[in-house]
Amino acid sequence: MKNVIGAKCTICGKMIEATPDITVCPSCGGIMDIEYDYEYIKSKLTPYGLMDREDRTMWRYMEFLPVEGRGKLPKLRVGMSPFYKADRLADTLGIKTLYIKDDGINPTASLKDRASAMAVVKAEEAGKNIIACSSTGNAASSLAGNAAAAGMKTYIFVPERAPKGKVAQLMMFGATVISVKGTYEDTFRLSAEAIDRWGWYNRNAAINPYLMEGKKTVALEIAEQLKFKMTDYVAISVGDGCTIAGLWKGFKDMYAAGFIDRLPRIISVQASGCCPINTAAAAGTEEWSPQPENTIADSIAVGVPRNPIKAIRAIRESNGVCVNVSDEEILAAMRLLGRTQGVFAEPAGATGTAGIKKAIELGLIEKDASVVSVVTGNGLKDVNNAIKAAGEPICIPPEMDLLLKELPELA
Ligand SMILES: *Cc1c(COP(=O)(O)O)cnc(C)c1O
Repeated sequence: MKNVIGAKCTICGKMIEATPDITVCPSCGGIMDIEYDYEYIKSKLTPYGLMDREDRTMWRYMEFLPVEGRGKLPKLRVGMSPFYKADRLADTLGIKTLYIKDDGINPTASLKDRASAMAVVKAEEAGKNIIACSSTGNAASSLAGNAAAAGMKTYIFVPERAPKGKVAQLMMFGATVISVKGTYEDTFRLSAEAIDRWGWYNRNAAINPYLMEGKKTVALEIAEQLKFKMTDYVAISVGDGCTIAGLWKGFKDMYAAGFIDRLPRIISVQASGCCPINTAAAAGTEEWSPQPENTIADSIAVGVPRNPIKAIRAIRESNGVCVNVSDEEILAAMRLLGRTQGVFAEPAGATGTAGIKKAIELGLIEKDASVVSVVTGNGLKDVNNAIKAAGEPICIPPEMDLLLKELPELA
């Protein structure tokens, strides 16, 4: 990998060689970060060169990615998700310019496909054909799908509360699924022990630094889809903290390589019932405390985040904004996305949008600002909460009289 310098520990700064199976720092156990040679990247790729590329997947950013070559790229079409100018929703929220990046439109319907596609490539480079992870649901279903497409076997640990839609995906993609009677923290712990014991490739996002490199492609795409003219803000929902860290890394990469001339401020949005990262970041510290997992947004119900340091640094370095939203505000944002833009988000997928609404109401961001809202997962994954947000249909016997009664406005 000529574009990669190595992997550097986020805690002690130790540099090691970026082999395919690295996990945490061998000296201090800190989370590693992949470092690039931006002069090399610049010599190989320009913004114009990029825009001419035919590849409509996340692999169009090859020069920014830690992979050996194009030979063994996965089969599913991950990335290059839709990017909409959302004028009606902007009007409703009272903000000047709003874009929606709909990452629910990925093969397994969440942003996690970007990390899982990367995991499959790196597992193959490491010579392993069994991959495992623990997940609140989407990392699991995306790993199962991307591994199935590559002919690999998966062992997947999910908390018992994982929504049925996500578990159905796992079963359909042929994963061996262990539904753990406990919290996400309990689930993570059991998976870590099993991975150690059987030597599987580890797709646990914080531990494996390559996964964030997959996730960062969402930022590379946003920059390109904005024709390299960055917005003032980008809003994202936060659980473990890998997604926000990846998002920030992607923008920093594009800035370092001279593709964009300014960096956005990141709006970090958590559920008020579970917001350990925002609580620490807002207090200006990297010392976070565990919290209960009290929200309907299962994908970000993470009381013990796995990547808090990178997430808190992303907020701090970007001069970011922290906003926490209630479940009611999340459900309202799901309705708004659906009704004004035709975008169907799962609760955590709409949380960024809920955060923008709240940030405007609280005066945390300016009304004449430009903002991107990343929708991280599709609403069909969690039908129960979609119905909770949108209500039940009119249900009548097949008779016109009854229909007229139900639709008095048409009488
Ligand atoms: C995983 C996930 C997030 C948050 O990502 P973290 O890396 O856990 O912070 C947000 N939304 C959806 C839909 C997710 O699946």
